Amino acid sequence: MAEAEYDFDLFVIGAGSGGVRAARIAAQAGARVAIAEEYRVGGTCVIRGCVPKKFMVYASDYGRKIEEARQYGWQVEEKGFDFPAFMSAMNAEVDRLSAIYLRNLANAGVDVFEERAELKDAHTIVLKESGKTFTVDKVLIATGGTPWRPSPEELPGVEHTMTSNEVFLLDELPKRIVIAGGGYIACEFAHIFAGLGVETCLVYRGDTVLNGFDWDVRTAVHEGLKEAGVRVITSAIFEEIREVEGEECPYCIKLSNGMEINADKIVMAVGRRAATDGLGCDAAGVKLTDKGAVIVDDSSRTSVPNIFAVGDVTDRIQLTPVAIREGHAFADSIFGDKDWHFEHDNVASAVFTQPEVGTVGMTEAEARKALDNVDIYKTKFRPMKTMLLDDPERVMIKLVVDGDTDRVVGVHIVSPDAGEMIQMIGIAVKMGATKAQFDATCAVHPTIAEEIVTLRQKWVPETEPA
Ligand code: NDP
Repeated sequence: MAEAEYDFDLFVIGAGSGGVRAARIAAQAGARVAIAEEYRVGGTCVIRGCVPKKFMVYASDYGRKIEEARQYGWQVEEKGFDFPAFMSAMNAEVDRLSAIYLRNLANAGVDVFEERAELKDAHTIVLKESGKTFTVDKVLIATGGTPWRPSPEELPGVEHTMTSNEVFLLDELPKRIVIAGGGYIACEFAHIFAGLGVETCLVYRGDTVLNGFDWDVRTAVHEGLKEAGVRVITSAIFEEIREVEGEECPYCIKLSNGMEINADKIVMAVGRRAATDGLGCDAAGVKLTDKGAVIVDDSSRTSVPNIFAVGDVTDRIQLTPVAIREGHAFADSIFGDKDWHFEHDNVASAVFTQPEVGTVGMTEAEARKALDNVDIYKTKFRPMKTMLLDDPERVMIKLVVDGDTDRVVGVHIVSPDAGEMIQMIGIAVKMGATKAQFDATCAVHPTIAEEIVTLRQKWVPETEPA
């Protein structure tokens, strides 16, 4: 533990997923811990990310479910969607979760400061509103990330746009929304708004969304967006946004391909940046990447020995469960009796498009680069439920196998409940399971997931993906 000369053994900046976990574990191990949060306890995941987003996904999916129910014989009278009622229920749940986070911190004996904290030097923290100053032995930077937008010089009219942060504050549904980007957030929101009946357009600078994912996932999601009614414009970026008078949609977006599209809401989902602006990293000597992310080693230690960082602010893998593990490992190692660090390989994740993406391990392209022999097993089919529906939805399941060791090194799924499936498959892949072991697992019938253990035929490529 720290020498008594310090006010706290640990000061955590940022009460999101990673910071809260670290603070609680360190306090439970006997450290004197404080945490500061400038917005709301819970961070991106609870307040303006994973949690409210997933509720919006559920809400938007009911429109389709109502239609499906009709085709399954239910006589359903649809009276429309009450967006304000939904938002108020969703916000109540977010408030409840934030309060639980606060209570858990208090129960663990953590001092909570609901204001912005900055580093004055490596051992001094300043609270910006109250002006209080504390000396601290260790610091954990867990400030997360923040949506990035081009400057007004780069994109005239950018002030008319919003980011994912503001989507959660909408008080009514737009008529026509245009979303820039082709990553996680752009694709998820495109499905959400289309599902809620909003005329939705996605503008992506590349040719197929979800760059970095397996090619078959990308093409399935790209086609899925169009099937869901999203207008997808590729190879284009916003050039200018101007206000138009007397129109139902008050903004006109000029694209780099010469097209002009109108919208009443515009979302920039073009990536996130580490939240290190004005944090005092310079003053404390903490080194950052050229994009402002905190540079850390495997133990989440920064260039300053008593300062650590976890979560999105380090730009390793921007996922809540990763931040939680990094925070837990830090607290156990520094304040507890277990020295460990989180391994960043084979992290399973989901994209909550409709249908969802579930993915773990290497893409086919990554495997072909890294391994001498790669076997691919894949299938595309209509799930059983859709046989009674007028629904073109197809499922895609793909296994990437090391041809020399028979080890399954990647699994990629586009399917209803793919997020749930990939959580389970992640265990097998993390354990190093072979294709023979997948095959030895008996199928659960009739399910979509049974295809994962019944794929017998190696896929032979006709043309290499670009
Ligand atoms: P992503 O990095 O996933 O996507 C950013 C998108 O913006 C890409 O399509 C990128 O194009 C495009 N882009 C970047 N710069 C520009 C530019 N200057 N002009 C036009 N387009 C541009 O970021 P997101 O904001 O969607 O998500 C951030 C992170 O948050 C994700 O990486 C993920 O880790 C996490 N997240 C996870 C979720 C989940 O687990 N379900 C949900 C939401 C977020 P290009 O492809 O060409 O680079």
